[in-house]
Amino acid sequence: MKGTGQYDRVFALIGHPVAHSVSPLMHNEAFGELGLNCCYLAFDVKVDDLAAAVKAIRALGLGGANITIPHKEGVLPYLDEVEEQAGLIGAVNTVVNREGRLIGYNTDAPGFLESLRADAGFDPAGSRVVILGAGGAARAVAYALALGGVESLGIFNRNPSRAEALARDISRSAACELETGDLQGIALRRALARADLLVNATSAGMHPHTDEVPLPDPAALRPGLIVYDLVYNPRKTRLLLEAEARGCRVFNGIGMLVYQGALAFELWTGRKAPVAVMRVAAEKALGT
Ligand code: NAP
Repeated sequence: MKGTGQYDRVFALIGHPVAHSVSPLMHNEAFGELGLNCCYLAFDVKVDDLAAAVKAIRALGLGGANITIPHKEGVLPYLDEVEEQAGLIGAVNTVVNREGRLIGYNTDAPGFLESLRADAGFDPAGSRVVILGAGGAARAVAYALALGGVESLGIFNRNPSRAEALARDISRSAACELETGDLQGIALRRALARADLLVNATSAGMHPHTDEVPLPDPAALRPGLIVYDLVYNPRKTRLLLEAEARGCRVFNGIGMLVYQGALAFELWTGRKAPVAVMRVAAEKALGT
């Protein structure tokens, strides 16, 4: 691989916008912790410039990149190879430059599972899960859970036809029971009454729309239910506050953010990621 000036290797974040991303601080602190002479920079790349930006990973000899909103799906055609699970999900958030070949991975899915295990002590095998949302993050989470052996998966979305399309895709690779619906109906309440885990994968409640809540009837939340909100800004969404008040065990998306970053770091460096250092950096970057 080509040299990149004073650093042995340079890594990039490609997204739009990227100004408030916590990834640069998280990765740079991790490189520092392990004494690696590497650096991670954020680049604001518009959709029309994505192809050129991906080519630049190769041309400039970067070690790899993270790909974020809105490019996680659009980047696939520009890569030389896409790892199997990323191909199923249809989204790549990590690119590794292996001797000029760009390989795409999805670390959001295993990062979510790792956070569930490490932060919540929850193993999804044999469990009943309800997911709210059917966008990019919901796809990663749904595949992770389905391939992680859940017994049943309910996918509920404001636009239910997107939930149906996601369930159809998943049914081709996993054998779990699948159910879909909208956010208003009785089906969601029934599914929640039997669920072990509720995941919010919608953007409802995310800054600056902190008054929004994806679940219209919080009475459906019962004590002991694990509620995992992928949103991490604010640290506690209205959903998490309502769930906590009803005796649920609540988790925000910082854990997923840290573990997807840790898995990307390991793909790039071959070294075990300093997860605790990365979590402190993420919290610091978020001002929490
Ligand atoms: P996306 O592809 O744009 O999907 C957005 C989803 O949210 C869709 O299902 C959409 O429903 C739903 N939605 C939006 N506003 C809503 C509202 N007011 N009420 C109910 N549903 C609403 O976005 P994404 O990439 O999947 O991201 C979703 C969330 O996950 C974001 O908050 C993002 O920050 C978070 N996330 C966190 C991590 C992490 O590491 N913690 C990683 C990835 C994403 P419709 O289909 O009906 O429009």
